[in-house]
Amino acid sequence: MQDERVPGFDTLAVRAGIARSRFNEHSEALYLTSSFVFDNAAQAAARFSGEEPGYVYGRFSNPTVTMMQERLAALEGAEACLATASGMAAILAAVMALLEAGNHIVASQSLFGATHQLLGNILPRFGVEASFVRSTDPADYANALRPETRMMFIETPSNPLTEVLDITALVAVARAAGVLLVVDNCFCTPVLQQPLALGADLVIHSATKYLDGQGRVLGGAVLGRRELIDEVFKFLRTAGPSISPFNAWVILKGLETLRIRVEAQSRNALELARWLEARPEVARVYYPGLASHPQHSAAMRQQKSGGAIVSFEVRGGREQAWRVIDATHILSITANLGDTKSTITHPASTTHGRIGAEARAAAGIGENLLRIAVGLEDIEDLEADLESGLAQI
Ligand SMILES: *Cc1c(COP(=O)(O)O)cnc(C)c1O
Repeated sequence: MQDERVPGFDTLAVRAGIARSRFNEHSEALYLTSSFVFDNAAQAAARFSGEEPGYVYGRFSNPTVTMMQERLAALEGAEACLATASGMAAILAAVMALLEAGNHIVASQSLFGATHQLLGNILPRFGVEASFVRSTDPADYANALRPETRMMFIETPSNPLTEVLDITALVAVARAAGVLLVVDNCFCTPVLQQPLALGADLVIHSATKYLDGQGRVLGGAVLGRRELIDEVFKFLRTAGPSISPFNAWVILKGLETLRIRVEAQSRNALELARWLEARPEVARVYYPGLASHPQHSAAMRQQKSGGAIVSFEVRGGREQAWRVIDATHILSITANLGDTKSTITHPASTTHGRIGAEARAAAGIGENLLRIAVGLEDIEDLEADLESGLAQI
């Protein structure tokens, strides 16, 4: 029957979640209101108790936010989604809602800096310990489990070295131990990788990155089955790291072009990675889409492409790396990623500057490492821009 056709990704990206007002506007409306009015006292009581579905207060939900949540849930293949003020707010909400004192987390060593801080330095004050696994071998994750482990938290590909973890293998480890597997899917987005379909329990997003895609707003999301998201909601509505309706509206519109952007940016990235690999001034390129990448085959099994983050080592040290950055005119010198504008950063002195030389060395983040988040510029222009930098070495 015509009606039962499941819409494709592109149709969902532009249409899922639309709820029109009585004015029947075509584009999704932005509802800037902190609270909602009830018809009478009985309805107010029923809304507050949850007996009657509907909007109550902006900290709990908002129609624009609901549209964003439903659209993102459709793209990730999730039963439910909750939007949050930032990616970190999403991670905080997930751990605060699902863990308690005495629980233990097994996490990958290569995590977004603030995630590492949260799990390693802040949660222990509340009795939740984390162990960080340095390798990409699922057996090492299994060995890090303890009887009190309740969650595994991973990012793949990792930042900045683009190490890839085999999600299916880690799902098996998590299931065997009865622990939740949480995947931060920020780098791939549902366009390239859908961890829930592979068996992960929760997906986290920093919507600040590719979901907005144009560097305008902060936002985050937690996605998964209803029963888990309901728990996260209890924390969110009480503790309050809610997303602004304006930010949700920007991200909602960003989702409409997500696939087109991410695929084009990934194509640019693959071409740039190949170009860099052929340059004599470049010692090594880290990009999952290259055959030279150590987890290339795992990446190609679970990702549609290598993504849009390319890291590389120049021959030399910090001085040579900085020369490349300083000679570029098009690439923006900023640590943000996921933007249509390409960005270049020196992780050792910026994003990973605070972790200390020893931890950087252990993580394989050298002074000669540069990370590019490839945007939508003409690839010839990006290559010419980098060529002038590499010529300075
Ligand atoms: C940026 C980022 C975060 C944090 O997101 P914010 O929106 O900045 O709070 C989490 N995980 C990854 C992989 C990120 O790149």
